[in-house]
This record gives sequence, structure tokens and C-alpha cells, in this order.
Amino acid sequence: MLLKGKKALIFGVANQKSIAYGIAKEFLAQGAEIALSYPGDAIKKRVEPIAEELKTSFIFPCDVTSDEQIEQSVKDVQSHWQNIDILVHSVAFAHKEDLHNRYVDTTREGFRTALDISAYSLVALCKAYEKMFNPNSYIMTMTYYGAQKYITNYNVMGVAKAALEASVRYLSYEMGMNGHRVNAISAGPIKTLAASGISDFRTILDRIESNAPLKRNTTIEDVGGAAAFFASDLSRAVTGEVLFVDCGYNILGI
Ligand code: NAD
Repeated sequence: MLLKGKKALIFGVANQKSIAYGIAKEFLAQGAEIALSYPGDAIKKRVEPIAEELKTSFIFPCDVTSDEQIEQSVKDVQSHWQNIDILVHSVAFAHKEDLHNRYVDTTREGFRTALDISAYSLVALCKAYEKMFNPNSYIMTMTYYGAQKYITNYNVMGVAKAALEASVRYLSYEMGMNGHRVNAISAGPIKTLAASGISDFRTILDRIESNAPLKRNTTIEDVGGAAAFFASDLSRAVTGEVLFVDCGYNILGI
């Protein structure tokens, strides 16, 4: 088991289709203890049965837009665990109208919201939880190809993911001084709650299935496997990276 005895905080399970759920399942299979966050009561109702199913150590509230809630979440976690080894950030949000209008029509508020929840929150969580990290801890976030190339309708989320990927590089340098590693997984499109906000998502899935080298779409189990590798000692010299887990789609030119 790759993660035996490791304590992992996972931010971003909303339901059984969430990428974070795929990661949580694989971490459990690899011997980790896990705790799940939820941003509010609506999601709490969905997370509770999942926590039961996965036999998680505990669940705790944390809306990442609030510094107070993040600080309180540290206290909640400290009441269960002294230290942690792994932090998974699988959180993103943009207003629906910003995922189908022209990018140039993004409002200041829409831009701020997308960047705050989808990019700044990683920085805020690293800062808040730094004091709890065991030596050689591991931090991971989720990104998408739209950070690097134009993807129809991805719009402000692409810009947020670009900021997130740059953050991974800056954080990995600073955290590296204590042996901590910070990486991102760039997953291929997967039909989740977050993805349902993106217009014409079905067309994107169909295109990948026909054209990706592996001729299929990515699953949350695929991402879970890569996440376990990243969180384990097997990837001990890898930090500041973006790893594509997308059935090879990103290598295509014409
Ligand atoms: P999801 O809807 O299951 O997960 C998104 C999570 O973000 C939810 O759990 C939601 O509760 C959480 N969240 C939103 N606002 C929050 C807030 N203010 N505070 C705390 N949590 C908040 O969808 P998903 O596709 O599993 O998304 C997980 C991550 O993977 C996101 O970063 C997403 O951009 C990324 N990603 C998704 C795909 C895809 O195609 N689904 C591809 C690449 C990357």
C-alpha cells in the first residue's frame, strides 16, 4: 500500500461523480486515513453518506472564500489529528454565465469569483495548514488544459487555471524548503457537477473519445491512480509539475 499511515485532507467531494471522490477511494485503497471538507449545509447532506461509505475519519465545514472558515477548519482538523501528510485541493467555481458568453464579456465580479475560489483558495489553504504539515508533506490540485490553450466556453475558468498552475510553481519552491511537494493533475474532461456548468460539454467528450490517443475519456479512477502516485514516495523528486491524465489528448497537433 502506497499511502499506509498517511493522513489526507480532501477538499472538493460533492458527490460520487466528483474527481475528489475518485481520489478519496484510491487513497483509502492505498491505506491512507482521509477527512473530507464541505462548503455548506447543502453539500454536507451529500457528503455525509459518502463519508459513511468511505469510513472517513471525520468531515468538517470549509467554504474557501472565507478566511475565518479556513482558520476554523484548521482548529476542527486539529481536534482530530495533530498533523497531516496530504492536502488535496479539488475545488473550483465560476458563474454559469461566464462559461458560455464571450470571454471578453466577463464581469469584474465574475473574474474575481472564479480566481478567488479556483486559484487563490490553494494559496490560502497552504498558508493555513502549513503549520500542520509533517515533513515531506504533499499538496495537490486539479487543473485543466484550458489553462494552456483556448477551449470553447471554458473562458474565465481557463484564466483561473493558468493562475492556479503558476501558483503550483511558486508554492512548490517555497514549500520545497521543508521537503513539501506541490503538483497539479490536468485531468481530461469528466462529467461532474462542476463540468455541468460548461456549455456543450457533451461535444467535448465526444471529440476526445474519437481523437485522443487512447480513444476514450478519462475517469475519476484514472485520476485517483495518478493522485496516489503523486502523494506517495514513488514521486518523491517531482514537484511544481502539471501532469496530464487525459488519455493523451494534449499531445495532439492538427
Ligand atoms: P465537483 O463539482 O464534483 O467538485 C467541485 C468542488 O468544488 C465541489 O465539491 C464544490 O463543493 C467545491 N466548491 C465550490 N465552491 C466552493 C467553495 N466556495 N468552498 C469550498 N468548496 C467549494 O467537480 P469536479 O469536476 O470533480 O471538480 C474538481 C476539480 O477538478 C475542479 O478544480 C475542476 O476545475 C477540476 N477539473 C475538472 C475537470 C472535469 O472535466 N470535471 C477536468 C479538469 C479539472
